[in-house]
Amino acid sequence: MLDPFGRTVSYLRVSVTDRCDFRCVYCMAEDMTFLPKADLLSLEELDRLCSAFIGMGVRKLRLTGGEPLVRRGIMTLIDSLGRHLKTGGLDELTLTTNGSQLEKYAADLYRAGVRRINVSLDTLDAAKFTELTRWGRLDQVMAGLQAAKAAGLAVKINAVALRGVNDTEFDDLIAWCGREGFDLVLIEVMPMGEIGEAARMDQYLPLSMARASIQRKWTLDETDYRTGGPARYYTVRETGRRLGFITPLTHNFCESCNRVRLTCTGTLYMCLGQNDAADLRAPLRASESNVLLEDAIREAIARKPKGHDFVIDRRKAPAAVPRHMSVTGG
Ligand code: SAM
Repeated sequence: MLDPFGRTVSYLRVSVTDRCDFRCVYCMAEDMTFLPKADLLSLEELDRLCSAFIGMGVRKLRLTGGEPLVRRGIMTLIDSLGRHLKTGGLDELTLTTNGSQLEKYAADLYRAGVRRINVSLDTLDAAKFTELTRWGRLDQVMAGLQAAKAAGLAVKINAVALRGVNDTEFDDLIAWCGREGFDLVLIEVMPMGEIGEAARMDQYLPLSMARASIQRKWTLDETDYRTGGPARYYTVRETGRRLGFITPLTHNFCESCNRVRLTCTGTLYMCLGQNDAADLRAPLRASESNVLLEDAIREAIARKPKGHDFVIDRRKAPAAVPRHMSVTGG
């Protein structure tokens, strides 16, 4: 699938539920209203949609949310999608998770063909973790991470850089990831979803600043390692692990974008930072054949925009994109 700017779309991210067992302060409001369960695509429908994308050239599939591992019966979908790894239709099946359910699922994920996962963890301080996630417990996530390691899953830790919250912890995170054998990616907070924009402005920390302070303690060697995602990677010489930066605000990476995002209701967003979307649920349900669905996917890819225009600025209007990250899937 080629978009109008000549970029090949080969990466599909699927939010399998908008629900989550955490309420991270930068991601959700405390009193989120979730979709009625009846609006959700069934696991069979999600499988059919993902398989149609794979048939059209998607090589990498990431399940996300909300929290993907709280969707009831999620292993049925993951097991079923694993068949595309066996046939060579898919290079990678992976997921982004908050880690809370990993103790239960890590071994099953490996068995289904998952080899790498991203786990979101912004702080190693248990009290701060609970404050940040509102409902989360750090020991539960740590147990999940050990289970992932024991199961043979490679782990990448995703940490959103938050001014005044975890900006004094990057050195600890780098050292801890080095000891545990995890890669680490720092992410700039994006203006998505209404959480109170004063709060957003206070949270925003440009990663150019974070990198400068990290380089006072660690040697970052340039690398051309890429995962097909938006991070730019370095190798931390002292630990031998990778450190990535996702910088949608200080440096956008749209020129190499290969991704589209599907929500749990079958809406396809061609850009995380734009509002244009295509409904795939209607063509999916209209017929048992995939002809209408594939036409709708092609038509959507032809509308993929050149890029996002996230900006966090006191003078600008609030939330660049009104939907929360949990809708489109981070
Ligand atoms: N529940 C899963 C998890 O915690 O990884 C998957 C969904 S979560 C929305 C995916 C990622 O998006 C997490 O790493 C989270 O920290 C990040 N995220 C959420 N809101 C964000 C925002 N406004 N800016 C940047 N990253 C955000």
